[in-house]
Amino acid sequence: MSINVTQTFFPPIEEYQSQIQRIWDNRWLTNRGELVLELEEKLKAHLAIPNIIITNNGTIPLQIALKILGGKGEIITTPFSYVATMAAIIWEDCKPVFVDIDEDHWTIDESKIESAITPNTTAILATHVFGNPCNVLAIELIAKKHNLKVIYDAAHAFGIKYMDKSIFEYGDVSTCSFHATKIFHTGEGGAMFTKNNELHHKLYYSHNFGHNGPLAFHGLGINGKISELQAAMGLAVFPYLEEIFKERKRVCEFYNAHLDLKLISTLKIREGTDWNYSYYPVIFKSEDMLLKVQTALNKENIIPRRYFYPSLNTVPYSNGKVMPISEHIAARILCLPLYTTLTESELNKIVSIINNNLC
Ligand SMILES: *Cc1c(COP(=O)(O)O)cnc(C)c1O
Repeated sequence: MSINVTQTFFPPIEEYQSQIQRIWDNRWLTNRGELVLELEEKLKAHLAIPNIIITNNGTIPLQIALKILGGKGEIITTPFSYVATMAAIIWEDCKPVFVDIDEDHWTIDESKIESAITPNTTAILATHVFGNPCNVLAIELIAKKHNLKVIYDAAHAFGIKYMDKSIFEYGDVSTCSFHATKIFHTGEGGAMFTKNNELHHKLYYSHNFGHNGPLAFHGLGINGKISELQAAMGLAVFPYLEEIFKERKRVCEFYNAHLDLKLISTLKIREGTDWNYSYYPVIFKSEDMLLKVQTALNKENIIPRRYFYPSLNTVPYSNGKVMPISEHIAARILCLPLYTTLTESELNKIVSIINNNLC
C-alpha cells in the first residue's frame, strides 16, 4: 500500500453505525436535523466560539462571505493557497488582486497590502496557510483604516488558537473545510464563523436559500446545507480529536528531529500560535532537488504532494501580476506524509530517502 501525503481518519465503524442508526430512527436526512445541530453545539463548545454554521463544504462559505461582503469589487488575496480561495473570488464576479507572501510565515505580507488598495477594493481574503495565522492584528488595523472587510480562509486551521483565542474569531468571517483530507472531517463539509450576530443571521439564511420560515425569504440564498449523513461522520470523528492531534504531533516531531534541516527549511509558526499539526511542508534549495527527492520517494510508493503549486497568480485565468516570493516557494515546496497511523519504520524510510537525496 502506498504512503500518501495524508490518510483520512476513520473512526471505529460501530461508532459511525450508531450515529447512522439515529438517522434511521428519526427518518430525517437533511435540512439541519438533530445530528447537524448536535455537531454544531459540540464544535462551538470545543472551539469556545459564539457562532457556527456548518456547511456542505469549505468552498461555499467563501462564496457566501464574498457574495455578502465582496460587492463585486477587488479582493486583496494571497497567491499561496489552494485554488479554491482564488476561484471563489472569481466565481463571485470579484477580482483577485494578489499581494505577495511573507518569506517566513508564507501568509499574505501585511506590509504590502496598503499599496494594493484602490477605490474599488472591498475586502481582504487571506489564508491561514498550513494553519499558520496571518498577521491578523496588523490586517485588522489596515482594514479599519480603509474600511475593508476581512475574510479568512481558515480551511487548514481547525483547532488553532492565536493569542489565546480561536483563530476563527478573527476577521469579519472565517471559513473552514471539513473535507476528508482535513484535520477534522465529515467526508465533505465545512463551516463559517462570525462574531457579529447580524452578519451571522445573513450567513445563516444565505446557506438555506434565503428562507425566513417556509413561506417567506430574508434575501438571496443558495444551498449550503450539510446532510445528517455527513454530520454522522463528524460526530463519530469528534471524540478522537485529541488523539488525532497527539498522533500528528508525534509525526511532526519525528520529522523535526530526523530530517537534515541544514539543507531544507520548514514552516515557521507565528509566535503566539497554538498550532494543529495540519501539514508538514518542507522547502528545498531548488526545484531540481525537490524533483529528485520526489522521484526517489515515488519509487518507494511514497506520495508527497506539491502543496501549493503553482502559485495562484500564474494560473492563466487569474490574470495575476508576478509574485516573486510565492512563485519561488511554490516551486520548491513539498508536503510530506502526515497522518495518525504513520509508523516509526515508515517515517524512518521517508526521512532516510529525503536525507540521502539532498545533494
Ligand atoms: C480544502 C481547502 C478549501 C476547500 O475546501 P472544500 O471543503 O474542499 O471545499 C478552501 N481553501 C483551502 C485553503 C483549502 O485547503
